[in-house]
Amino acid sequence: MDMIVVMKANATADDVQRVVERIGELGLVPHLSKGEFRTIVGAIGQKTPPTLEQLRQLPAVDEVLAITQPYKLASREFHEADTILDIKGIRVGGPHVNVIAGPCAIEGRDMLFEIARAVKDAGASMLRGGAFKPRTSPYAFTGMGREGLRLLQEVGRELSMPTITEVTDPRDVPLVYDHADIFQIGARNMQNFNLLLEVGRTDKPVFIKRGLAASINELLMSAEYVLSQGNHRVMVCERGLRTFADETRFTLDVSAVPVIQERSHLPVFVDPSHAAGKRDLVPALALAAIAAGAAGIIVEVHSCPDRALCDGPQAVLPANFARMMQQLRQIAEIVGHRVTLWNRDDAPPARPTTTGWMS
Ligand code: PEP
Ligand code: MN
Repeated sequence: MDMIVVMKANATADDVQRVVERIGELGLVPHLSKGEFRTIVGAIGQKTPPTLEQLRQLPAVDEVLAITQPYKLASREFHEADTILDIKGIRVGGPHVNVIAGPCAIEGRDMLFEIARAVKDAGASMLRGGAFKPRTSPYAFTGMGREGLRLLQEVGRELSMPTITEVTDPRDVPLVYDHADIFQIGARNMQNFNLLLEVGRTDKPVFIKRGLAASINELLMSAEYVLSQGNHRVMVCERGLRTFADETRFTLDVSAVPVIQERSHLPVFVDPSHAAGKRDLVPALALAAIAAGAAGIIVEVHSCPDRALCDGPQAVLPANFARMMQQLRQIAEIVGHRVTLWNRDDAPPARPTTTGWMS
């Protein structure tokens, strides 16, 4: 079992360093979590009673506790406060609500720009668009690939919107890293552990979607794979489960939001689009997600859904998206959250990324 060492409030950097070193000497892997009031050092590896005692005796150590959950770095025990990420100057998590919107798939420059412009004007803070599409049928449109990534980067830059796109193959991680701001791990790849390890070795945010039949613990274990590699910029996303109900494409598990928030400090998003499967149902599910306290939603929007190459039936029209955004802001306010908007003066300024490829 693994442990956390809770430092006293007045612990110095040297005290913390001593604990980190001792953890290493004991054959455990140290992980630092600096809170507002105290520092916690995770010690991951095999625990033996003498180890626990040895750590407890070090100066400025307040307490040593065993982490009871199978996930460690993803747990609330390890990190008590909500994780708030800074993605190119946009805050994600805690009281901040972010709406990520865009087409399911990137289909061409003009269409992408038109949709991006519309969702930004309506208040979306980030742009989505798939270039590598995992499809049920091998004969379906599987995305524009490298060219799609290039268009996403171009449009994102032009509109100062951070971008998110799915990566399906560990070999594509450097390519996607160079073109997008957030790695999306799709529902079908939630347990592609090599892919999780690969994005975990980078310094870019990772957005993990819950598998079609995955438990919440399995989702958090997937997050743990990324965290274990040193990348702490992780978000998770509920996107509907396979059930016997066939009125919707999948059944949205709204309860996943408070359940994950109780167990983990990571921002929890909801995808109402893939759960609904029909555009008319999307606004209700989106509002439910924000009412439940989600850190945001990821929504598929298309200005010409009849001609969409992927997921047209669930794509919301820009005008309906704008109406939904207004309602969403009111709901967010009721639960004490605030929607991050791009079309207002108080919107945070876009900052270029300064970090490079790490592995
Ligand atoms: C998507 O976001 O377009 C997508 C394929 O989602 P999921 O992995 O949840 O099915
Ligand atoms: Mn889709």
